[in-house]
Amino acid sequence: MKPLFKKPLSLYLLGVLALLIVSGAILSRLTDEYIILIAILGIEFIILSMMLLYVYNKYLKPISKAVETIEELVQGNYRARVRYQAQGMIADLNQNINQLARSLSELTIQEEMKTKQLLTVLNNTESGLALVDEKGYLHLVNRKFLSLFNKSKDDYIGYLYYDVIEDEKIQNTVQEAFLYEKNIKQSFTLPSDAGDRYIEVVSAPIFNERQMLKGAVIVLYDITELKQVAMMRKDFVANVSHELKTPITSIKGFAETLLDNKATNKETENHFLNIIYEESSRLQFLVEDLLTLSTLEKDDFQLKISNTNLSEIVADMWPMVKLQAEKKNITLNYFMEKEYILTADGEKLKQILINLVGNAISYTPDEGEVTLTIDEIDQFIRINVKDTGIGINQDDLPRLFERFYRVDKARSRNTGGTGLGLAIVKHIVEVHGGKINVESEINKGSSFTVCFPKELTFTN
Ligand code: ADP
Repeated sequence: MKPLFKKPLSLYLLGVLALLIVSGAILSRLTDEYIILIAILGIEFIILSMMLLYVYNKYLKPISKAVETIEELVQGNYRARVRYQAQGMIADLNQNINQLARSLSELTIQEEMKTKQLLTVLNNTESGLALVDEKGYLHLVNRKFLSLFNKSKDDYIGYLYYDVIEDEKIQNTVQEAFLYEKNIKQSFTLPSDAGDRYIEVVSAPIFNERQMLKGAVIVLYDITELKQVAMMRKDFVANVSHELKTPITSIKGFAETLLDNKATNKETENHFLNIIYEESSRLQFLVEDLLTLSTLEKDDFQLKISNTNLSEIVADMWPMVKLQAEKKNITLNYFMEKEYILTADGEKLKQILINLVGNAISYTPDEGEVTLTIDEIDQFIRINVKDTGIGINQDDLPRLFERFYRVDKARSRNTGGTGLGLAIVKHIVEVHGGKINVESEINKGSSFTVCFPKELTFTN
């Protein structure tokens, strides 16, 4: 708004000036009395004008400046201040206006900071969040929410939730949260390029201090990993049960036959007893491997770390694998560049070597060759087990270290395998901070390489 009195005052002064000029022109024709009268009137006009100017400058101008500032504050410009010098009550008024402006600007800064903090928290939570008002309009969606649906803020804010949120299950939870005024939970599958994601959605009603419904908050939890763990657990239990069932059924069947005296001669009896013995050994291996795995996976599992001489470990396990190799006439080689001492769990290292060399012998046909090499490369001590065996299909390689994963189930069973050997090896390698890698070619052979970081080791 423009100052009220500025224009009328200047017009007024102009008027006075014009009057003076006109009166000057008339004066030349008038008598002395008239001249004196007009002079008095002129002087009165001048005094009145000066008084008006004084009043304008002292009271009206400062007030109009204050009004200007207040208007700016009302429009949200909290940086506006009254800078016009005034005195008395108007100076106090200006001071109060400036103080109010300062408080408003501080409040705004604090509010902005709080909003920013809240948005940072909302945008960095692992759950998707959206806020719907009581009429169903979306007011807020966080980053996770947008990333789950691959959309932008503009696709949601200001729209009715049922127009822009496509998933029916989410819509239903919001509807029911409004209807029953309580938290509503559901889960659904969200297809994505990287595979299906499992989402749990909770819609919770929001109430004001008078317990009136003011809207709802939608929370989306990505439970894919939990679901995968649950599925893995289920699979594991199913696998263990299956693995146990086969030898137990066999043992029970042959034991029943023996008990019923159905074995007609000593030879058959011995054959059945042998089967029972082999199947119970298989059970024993399975239970032992399961126990090893569960020990390794315990939260409080501790390696028994000591300075372990690798050649002593090899010397310990060598007779076991040598016997196995001799049965198949397999040549067993062993190369070690120099003596290595690892800061590691010796028993667990032995298990790695037994499992890898044992597998190499099992999956290599008679007359083949298995070579164990220990050397160093860059920052790692490298243990390599290479065979000239049946090899592994490239498609099977990524799943090879999963529990109970076997390329050829029948062959694995015949070798007395439990399907847990490589899972155990991988676990032991990883708890030592190492890495395992496999290369293989069908009918040419396989090569398993384990690397341990040198900082955990030293050589002599
Ligand atoms: P298993 O007790 O069946 O040997 P592992 O976990 O030790 O179980 O090995 C998993 C599977 O990987 C085996 O069933 C076998 O199919 C394959 N495998 C492991 N080592 C070799 C190897 N050296 N050559 C060929 N196949 C192998």
